[in-house]
Order: sequence, then C-alpha cells, then structure tokens
Amino acid sequence: RTKFKGGNGYSFFDPKQQTLLEIKTELESEIIRAIEGDEFCAHFQPQVDVNGKVSGAEALIRWNHPTKGLVPPYQFIPLAEQFGLIQKLQNIVLRDICLLLKELSKHAIIPPNYRIAINMAQNQFNSPTLKNELISILNEYQVSPHQIMLEITESMLSKDLSYTVQQMHELKAQGFTFSIDDFGTGYSCLSTLHAYPVDELKIDKSFIDNIENVQTGLPIVETIINLAKNLNISVMAEGVETEKQFSILKEKKTDGIQGYLVAKPMPAEDYITWHQGVTNS
Ligand code: C2E
Ligand code: MG
Ligand code: MG
Ligand code: MG
Repeated sequence: RTKFKGGNGYSFFDPKQQTLLEIKTELESEIIRAIEGDEFCAHFQPQVDVNGKVSGAEALIRWNHPTKGLVPPYQFIPLAEQFGLIQKLQNIVLRDICLLLKELSKHAIIPPNYRIAINMAQNQFNSPTLKNELISILNEYQVSPHQIMLEITESMLSKDLSYTVQQMHELKAQGFTFSIDDFGTGYSCLSTLHAYPVDELKIDKSFIDNIENVQTGLPIVETIINLAKNLNISVMAEGVETEKQFSILKEKKTDGIQGYLVAKPMPAEDYITWHQGVTNS
C-alpha cells in the first residue's frame, strides 16, 4: 500500500497519495517498528591528534532498513525529534558506545583521555531528566562519563543561558565533556561563549572544504582556532579529506582531526579492527 520513494529523495512516501497526517503517522510507526526490530545502530568515526594518534571517535547513528538499506540520519533524526522518539534512539547509540568501550578494553589499548562523542538533539538536551538517563545507562555498563563527550550545537546555547549553563555544569560535575558541533554555522553569541563550560570547538566541514582559499577560507579557520586558544579549549576539525587540508590544520595548531582522510564512519567491529591496527603498532 505504501509507496517508497526511490533514490535519495527526502521523503519515504509518495505525498500525492496520502494526507500529511497519514504520512506522519506511518513514518512514526515505521520508526517505532524499526526500534523494536533493532534496525538502528551506531557507526564510529575515529578522531586523531595532529601526530596521528587516536584520541577518540564520534558515534553516528545509522538505520539499517530492510528494503532501503542504510538510511542517513538527516532523513529520520528531525522526524524522531518531532515524534518524541529521539531519546529512544539516543539510548541505542549510548548503549552501542558502552558496548564498544567494553570490547576495546578487552581487546585493545585505550589511550588516556580517550573519548567517544555522541550528538545531542535540541529537545533532549533541554530535558531535566537527561543527566539521570545518561548516568543510568553508563552505570549498567560500568562506563565512566569521563569517556563520553556530548556534542551540542550553537542553537542549544542560544536558548536560556542560565538554565543551559547549569545543565552543563551538572553534567560536567559527573565527568562528561562538551564539544560545540558545526561551530561557525550557527549564531553563537561570542560575548557569552566563555560562560559555557565547553571543552572543544568543532570547526564545521564547510570551512575545512574552503581552507585552501587564503582570502575567504583560511582566515575563518584561523579565527576559530585562535578563539579556542584564547578561551583555553581545544579545537577539532571535521570533514578533513585531503593531506593538504591536514597539513594546514597542523601548521595552524588544530588539536584534533576527523574526516575521510583518517577513516569513514564504520560499524563497531570494523572500528575495533582499525583501532587495534593503529594502537598496537
Ligand atoms: P555531524 O555530527 O556534524 O557529523 C559529521 C557528519 O559528517 C557525519 O555524517 C559524517 O559521516 C560526515 N563526515 C565525516 N567526515 C567526513 C568527510 O571527510 N567528508 C564528508 N563528505 N563527510 C564526512 P552523518 O553520519 O550522515 O551524520 C549527519 C548528521 O546527523 C550529524 O552531523 C549529526 O548532526 C546528525 N546525527 C548523526 N548521528 C546522530 C545521533 O546519534 N543523534 C543525533 N541527535 N544526531 C545525529
Ligand atoms: Mg543494536
Ligand atoms: Mg557531530
Ligand atoms: Mg558536525
């Protein structure tokens, strides 16, 4: 009955055949079905320092759909947020992170300060129960919050300053660290940035793509790096694809690198093999 759109179309269903409400209801039950069917999992993309030493990884959710194959996050994360299902998905990602850390501790070397980053959704980050939910899952697996970095976006900082600062301090007191994802693409208020207990700025890929342009690209990247240094926080570049980009970032004293140049996001088993390969040599 339901028509799936082929190719990379945004929508799952043919909008001409159904009302918007019908489409939403079907998508919602499709996501619920997929959660119950264990179709979601996290993939992991390595993060390294400028000397190539592994420093962590980012967990990125994937939907392994029985007929559509791997569905990228932009096609379902916003919907899951709308349907109030994002917390369920995040719990799957966090559990996958815990399982990976357990496996790594058995089979590989975990460098000091090694962390796995998890992307936070807006309405989830504002939830007063967030801390307890995160802690209870970590406790199940005996994983320390020191091994988890929470990625938030600039838009989450621009809401209620005092509430957000308090929420962040409570999470930091547990050992969690914070990264601002896609930095430079939102509207951070630079005058209040110092008020937030942030550990890392993550330079958005769009700036890295343009880094070789000394007039329009490089100055922006340098500005973000200097901003991070002045605030005494570290700076990670995301979406690094070429040796040239890497060498510029190294020269400009970026702390960390993530991108296809190092490795693409991988299923946990492949990540473990990759991690063993670079830490055991
Ligand atoms: P993001 O957090 O900024 O993640 C980086 C995205 O860039 C990932 O796309 C990653 O696969 C891609 N990427 C990394 N290096 C390169 C590169 O060198 N070249 C290119 N072309 N791409 C690169 P992905 O996995 O499709 O995720 C897209 C976005 O979806 C993420 O952007 C994040 O905002 C969101 N997302 C992913 N997983 C989760 C999750 O578990 N929870 C939430 N709330 N959002 C998530
Ligand atoms: Mg699973
Ligand atoms: Mg991210
Ligand atoms: Mg990003």
